[in-house]
Amino acid sequence: MQRYFIDQKIPDNGELIISGDDARHIAKVMRGEPGDRIVVVADGTAYEAELGTVSQEVGVRILKKLDGNPELPLHVAIACGLPKGDKLDLIAQKGTELGMHRLIPFEAERSVVKWDAAKAGKKAERLRKIVKEAAEQSHRTVIPHVHTPESFPELLKSASRYGAVIAAYEDEARKTDRTRFADTLKSVYDKGSILLVFGPEGGFSQAEITGLERAGALFTSLGPRILRAETAPLYALAAISYEYE
Ligand code: SAM
Repeated sequence: MQRYFIDQKIPDNGELIISGDDARHIAKVMRGEPGDRIVVVADGTAYEAELGTVSQEVGVRILKKLDGNPELPLHVAIACGLPKGDKLDLIAQKGTELGMHRLIPFEAERSVVKWDAAKAGKKAERLRKIVKEAAEQSHRTVIPHVHTPESFPELLKSASRYGAVIAAYEDEARKTDRTRFADTLKSVYDKGSILLVFGPEGGFSQAEITGLERAGALFTSLGPRILRAETAPLYALAAISYEYE
Protein backbone atom coordinates (compact mmCIF):
# COMPACT_ATOMS: atom_id res chain seq x y z
CA MET A 1 0.00 0.00 0.00
CA GLN A 2 1.25 3.45 -0.98
CA ARG A 3 2.19 5.62 2.02
CA TYR A 4 1.38 9.34 2.36
CA PHE A 5 2.70 11.65 5.07
CA ILE A 6 0.15 14.28 6.01
CA ASP A 7 0.74 17.29 8.21
CA GLN A 8 -2.73 17.42 9.75
CA LYS A 9 -4.12 15.82 12.88
CA ILE A 10 -6.47 12.85 12.42
CA PRO A 11 -9.97 14.22 13.24
CA ASP A 12 -12.10 12.27 15.73
CA ASN A 13 -14.42 11.09 12.97
CA GLY A 14 -11.43 9.72 11.03
CA GLU A 15 -12.45 11.55 7.85
CA LEU A 16 -9.91 13.82 6.15
CA ILE A 17 -9.03 15.42 2.82
CA ILE A 18 -5.71 14.99 1.01
CA SER A 19 -4.87 17.73 -1.50
CA GLY A 20 -1.88 19.01 -3.51
CA ASP A 21 0.86 16.74 -4.86
CA ASP A 22 -0.28 13.73 -2.87
CA ALA A 23 -3.85 14.05 -4.19
CA ARG A 24 -2.45 14.30 -7.72
CA HIS A 25 -0.28 11.22 -7.07
CA ILE A 26 -3.28 9.23 -5.82
CA ALA A 27 -5.46 10.25 -8.76
CA LYS A 28 -2.94 10.25 -11.63
CA VAL A 29 -0.13 7.84 -10.66
CA MET A 30 -1.98 5.42 -8.40
CA ARG A 31 -5.23 5.82 -10.40
CA GLY A 32 -6.89 5.49 -7.03
CA GLU A 33 -10.57 4.58 -6.85
CA PRO A 34 -13.04 4.83 -3.99
CA GLY A 35 -12.51 1.84 -1.68
CA ASP A 36 -8.77 1.50 -2.44
CA ARG A 37 -6.51 1.26 0.61
CA ILE A 38 -3.52 3.49 1.37
CA VAL A 39 -1.34 4.13 4.43
CA VAL A 40 -1.57 7.59 5.96
CA VAL A 41 1.12 8.77 8.39
CA ALA A 42 0.27 11.61 10.76
CA ASP A 43 2.30 12.75 13.75
CA GLY A 44 4.58 9.72 13.66
CA THR A 45 1.74 7.17 13.55
CA ALA A 46 0.74 5.06 10.54
CA TYR A 47 -2.89 4.22 9.75
CA GLU A 48 -4.57 2.06 7.13
CA ALA A 49 -7.13 4.20 5.29
CA GLU A 50 -9.72 3.88 2.55
CA LEU A 51 -10.14 6.26 -0.40
CA GLY A 52 -13.45 8.10 -0.82
CA THR A 53 -13.94 10.61 -3.64
CA VAL A 54 -10.85 10.90 -5.86
CA SER A 55 -10.45 14.14 -7.83
CA GLN A 56 -8.52 17.42 -7.27
CA GLU A 57 -8.83 16.51 -3.62
CA VAL A 58 -9.13 13.03 -2.17
CA GLY A 59 -11.47 12.04 0.64
CA VAL A 60 -9.91 9.52 3.03
CA ARG A 61 -11.39 7.50 5.88
CA ILE A 62 -9.10 6.12 8.58
CA LEU A 63 -9.72 2.40 9.16
CA LYS A 64 -7.19 1.41 11.80
CA LYS A 65 -3.88 2.30 13.42
CA LEU A 66 -0.98 0.15 12.21
CA ASP A 67 1.17 -1.52 14.86
CA GLY A 68 4.95 -1.74 14.90
CA ASN A 69 7.49 1.02 15.17
CA PRO A 70 10.00 1.27 12.29
CA GLU A 71 12.02 4.03 13.94
CA LEU A 72 15.41 3.72 15.66
CA PRO A 73 15.09 3.90 19.49
CA LEU A 74 17.28 7.00 19.55
CA HIS A 75 17.33 10.04 17.28
CA VAL A 76 20.46 10.02 15.08
CA ALA A 77 21.45 13.30 13.42
CA ILE A 78 24.00 12.94 10.60
CA ALA A 79 26.23 15.99 10.05
CA CYS A 80 28.34 15.78 6.88
CA GLY A 81 31.06 18.12 5.68
CA LEU A 82 29.76 19.11 2.22
CA PRO A 83 30.99 16.33 -0.11
CA LYS A 84 31.55 16.59 -3.85
CA GLY A 85 28.94 15.88 -6.54
CA ASP A 86 25.67 14.17 -5.65
CA LYS A 87 27.03 12.19 -2.70
CA LEU A 88 24.63 13.97 -0.33
CA ASP A 89 21.72 12.59 -2.42
CA LEU A 90 22.99 9.07 -1.70
CA ILE A 91 23.47 9.82 2.01
CA ALA A 92 19.96 11.35 2.14
CA GLN A 93 18.30 8.36 0.49
CA LYS A 94 20.21 5.53 2.16
CA GLY A 95 20.44 7.35 5.48
CA THR A 96 16.62 7.61 5.50
CA GLU A 97 16.25 3.89 4.82
CA LEU A 98 18.69 3.24 7.67
CA GLY A 99 16.72 5.32 10.18
CA MET A 100 18.46 8.73 10.15
CA HIS A 101 16.42 11.35 11.98
CA ARG A 102 18.09 14.50 10.73
CA LEU A 103 20.61 15.45 8.00
CA ILE A 104 22.85 18.49 8.56
CA PRO A 105 25.21 19.41 5.72
CA PHE A 106 27.92 21.78 6.95
CA GLU A 107 30.66 23.85 5.25
CA ALA A 108 33.85 22.05 6.25
CA GLU A 109 37.24 23.69 5.78
CA ARG A 110 38.24 20.95 3.37
CA SER A 111 34.92 20.85 1.49
CA VAL A 112 35.82 21.37 -2.16
CA VAL A 113 32.28 22.50 -2.99
CA LYS A 114 31.03 25.88 -1.79
CA TRP A 115 27.27 26.44 -2.00
CA ASP A 116 26.00 30.01 -2.19
CA ALA A 117 22.64 30.75 -0.48
CA ALA A 118 20.60 30.25 -3.66
CA LYS A 119 22.28 26.94 -4.50
CA ALA A 120 22.07 25.78 -0.88
CA GLY A 121 18.32 26.40 -0.78
CA LYS A 122 17.76 24.51 -4.04
CA LYS A 123 19.98 21.59 -2.97
CA ALA A 124 18.19 21.37 0.41
CA GLU A 125 14.81 21.28 -1.37
CA ARG A 126 16.08 18.44 -3.58
CA LEU A 127 17.35 16.53 -0.55
CA ARG A 128 13.97 17.00 1.20
CA LYS A 129 12.22 15.43 -1.81
CA ILE A 130 14.67 12.50 -1.72
CA VAL A 131 14.17 11.84 2.00
CA LYS A 132 10.34 12.08 1.68
CA GLU A 133 10.32 9.46 -1.09
CA ALA A 134 12.78 7.25 0.81
CA ALA A 135 10.66 7.53 3.98
CA GLU A 136 7.57 6.44 2.01
CA GLN A 137 9.47 3.56 0.37
CA SER A 138 11.03 2.32 3.63
CA HIS A 139 7.72 2.52 5.54
CA ARG A 140 8.98 5.00 8.06
CA THR A 141 6.69 7.05 10.28
CA VAL A 142 9.02 10.05 10.33
CA ILE A 143 10.45 12.05 7.42
CA PRO A 144 14.03 13.05 8.37
CA HIS A 145 14.55 16.78 8.78
CA VAL A 146 17.04 18.20 6.26
CA HIS A 147 18.88 21.41 7.26
CA THR A 148 20.09 23.96 4.74
CA PRO A 149 23.88 23.81 4.91
CA GLU A 150 25.28 25.57 7.94
CA SER A 151 28.69 26.76 9.03
CA PHE A 152 30.83 24.61 11.32
CA PRO A 153 30.46 27.10 14.22
CA GLU A 154 26.65 26.89 13.81
CA LEU A 155 26.90 23.09 13.92
CA LEU A 156 28.98 23.22 17.09
CA LYS A 157 26.50 25.64 18.68
CA SER A 158 23.72 23.06 18.21
CA ALA A 159 25.84 20.24 19.67
CA SER A 160 24.55 20.82 23.21
CA ARG A 161 21.02 19.88 22.03
CA TYR A 162 22.11 16.23 21.70
CA GLY A 163 22.67 13.60 24.34
CA ALA A 164 26.07 12.89 22.81
CA VAL A 165 28.26 14.09 19.95
CA ILE A 166 30.37 11.49 18.14
CA ALA A 167 32.99 12.42 15.56
CA ALA A 168 33.94 9.68 13.13
CA TYR A 169 37.64 10.50 12.93
CA GLU A 170 39.83 9.03 10.22
CA ASP A 171 42.97 9.36 12.35
CA GLU A 172 41.38 7.03 14.91
CA ALA A 173 41.23 4.43 12.15
CA ARG A 174 45.03 4.52 11.81
CA LYS A 175 45.74 3.72 15.42
CA THR A 176 46.47 0.13 16.46
CA ASP A 177 44.55 0.78 19.68
CA ARG A 178 41.76 2.56 17.80
CA THR A 179 38.47 3.34 19.55
CA ARG A 180 35.98 0.79 18.26
CA PHE A 181 32.56 2.10 17.18
CA ALA A 182 30.91 -0.75 19.11
CA ASP A 183 32.46 0.55 22.35
CA THR A 184 31.55 4.15 21.55
CA LEU A 185 27.93 3.13 20.93
CA LYS A 186 27.77 1.27 24.24
CA SER A 187 28.77 4.48 26.01
CA VAL A 188 25.78 6.41 24.60
CA TYR A 189 23.12 3.77 25.27
CA ASP A 190 21.10 5.99 27.57
CA LYS A 191 21.10 9.06 25.31
CA GLY A 192 17.86 9.93 23.51
CA SER A 193 19.69 11.60 20.65
CA ILE A 194 23.18 11.60 19.17
CA LEU A 195 24.91 13.86 16.67
CA LEU A 196 27.29 11.95 14.38
CA VAL A 197 29.80 14.21 12.57
CA PHE A 198 31.66 13.19 9.40
CA GLY A 199 34.30 15.06 7.41
CA PRO A 200 34.30 15.63 3.63
CA GLU A 201 36.63 13.78 1.25
CA GLY A 202 39.61 15.70 2.64
CA GLY A 203 38.75 14.80 6.23
CA PHE A 204 38.63 17.06 9.28
CA SER A 205 40.94 20.05 9.72
CA GLN A 206 42.86 20.41 12.99
CA ALA A 207 40.71 23.44 13.90
CA GLU A 208 37.55 21.33 13.43
CA ILE A 209 38.98 18.59 15.63
CA THR A 210 39.77 21.16 18.32
CA GLY A 211 36.25 22.60 18.01
CA LEU A 212 34.74 19.13 18.35
CA GLU A 213 36.94 18.40 21.39
CA ARG A 214 35.73 21.64 23.01
CA ALA A 215 32.14 20.61 22.27
CA GLY A 216 32.77 17.39 24.21
CA ALA A 217 32.68 15.09 21.17
CA LEU A 218 33.67 11.44 21.48
CA PHE A 219 36.15 10.42 18.76
CA THR A 220 35.70 7.01 17.21
CA SER A 221 36.93 4.89 14.35
CA LEU A 222 34.58 3.11 11.97
CA GLY A 223 37.04 0.23 11.64
CA PRO A 224 40.56 0.12 10.14
CA ARG A 225 39.73 1.03 6.54
CA ILE A 226 39.28 4.59 5.28
CA LEU A 227 35.70 4.82 4.00
CA ARG A 228 34.46 7.31 1.42
CA ALA A 229 32.61 10.36 2.73
CA GLU A 230 29.34 8.86 1.50
CA THR A 231 30.05 5.38 2.91
CA ALA A 232 30.97 6.41 6.47
CA PRO A 233 27.53 7.71 7.57
CA LEU A 234 25.85 4.61 6.13
CA TYR A 235 28.29 2.30 7.91
CA ALA A 236 27.56 4.12 11.18
CA LEU A 237 23.78 3.97 10.75
CA ALA A 238 23.91 0.27 9.82
CA ALA A 239 26.02 -0.42 12.92
CA ILE A 240 23.56 1.51 15.12
CA SER A 241 20.66 -0.49 13.67
CA TYR A 242 22.58 -3.71 14.27
CA GLU A 243 23.34 -2.64 17.84
CA TYR A 244 19.88 -1.36 18.73
CA GLU A 245 17.49 -3.28 16.50
N1 SAM B 1 41.15 12.41 3.68
C1 SAM B 1 41.02 11.52 4.84
C2 SAM B 1 42.25 10.66 4.99
O1 SAM B 1 42.87 10.29 4.01
O2 SAM B 1 42.49 10.28 6.13
C3 SAM B 1 39.80 10.61 4.66
C4 SAM B 1 38.52 11.29 4.88
S1 SAM B 1 37.18 10.15 4.62
C5 SAM B 1 37.15 10.02 2.88
C6 SAM B 1 35.77 11.20 4.94
C7 SAM B 1 35.22 11.08 6.35
O3 SAM B 1 34.70 9.77 6.55
C8 SAM B 1 36.23 11.27 7.46
O4 SAM B 1 36.46 12.62 7.75
C9 SAM B 1 35.54 10.54 8.61
O5 SAM B 1 34.54 11.38 9.18
C10 SAM B 1 34.88 9.37 7.91
N2 SAM B 1 35.65 8.14 7.94
C11 SAM B 1 36.02 7.40 6.88
N3 SAM B 1 36.62 6.26 7.27
C12 SAM B 1 36.65 6.27 8.63
C13 SAM B 1 37.12 5.37 9.63
N4 SAM B 1 37.68 4.21 9.32
N5 SAM B 1 36.99 5.73 10.93
C14 SAM B 1 36.40 6.91 11.27
N6 SAM B 1 35.91 7.80 10.38
C15 SAM B 1 36.03 7.48 9.06
